[in-house]
Amino acid sequence: MGLEEKLPSGILLTTVELLAGYMRKASIWPATFGLACCAIEMMAVGTPDYDIARFGMERFSATPRQADLMIVAGRVSQKMAPIVRQVYDQMPGPKWVISMGVCASSGGMFNNYAIVQGVDHIVPVDIYLPGCPPRPEMLLNAIIKLHEQIESMPLGANKVAAARAAEEAALAAVPTHQMKGLLA
Ligand code: SF4
Repeated sequence: MGLEEKLPSGILLTTVELLAGYMRKASIWPATFGLACCAIEMMAVGTPDYDIARFGMERFSATPRQADLMIVAGRVSQKMAPIVRQVYDQMPGPKWVISMGVCASSGGMFNNYAIVQGVDHIVPVDIYLPGCPPRPEMLLNAIIKLHEQIESMPLGANKVAAARAAEEAALAAVPTHQMKGLLA
């Protein structure tokens, strides 16, 4: 949390939000981190064909302390889960997570006790990327979507208001087990 979080709502906060959002989205460094076959596709975005350097993101950080994006590329085994969380905890905030591929997002075809059935059991996920494996273009698209999210990230009083609105919407939502009756 920085000084911008203390600003009262108003035109000054909106200006700081715009500025901070632009700078944050333009200065993301991913952590060097790959778990399974999806990681090969992740590595491909560094090649000239896909050119992640166009976003200034070609520097995959060897230490989590200099990274603010975790791309979970591949299935997460139960044994690896605490290490994934440790890497996440060592990253400075604000930080973001892309769950790359069906295995990271839901366990995929590995519906068994050895694989975590969704990395969101361990870390908060900002973008879920479908596919087995997702192509490098899809990862670039997920990064662009994440940039859009970061650019419109509320701060300070606006952040509190957004969290309150999301909580109220969640409380007012129809529970999944009652939806079937509504749709029938
Ligand atoms: S989604 Fe497919 S490519 Fe990615 S880790 Fe799972 S099996 Fe491998």
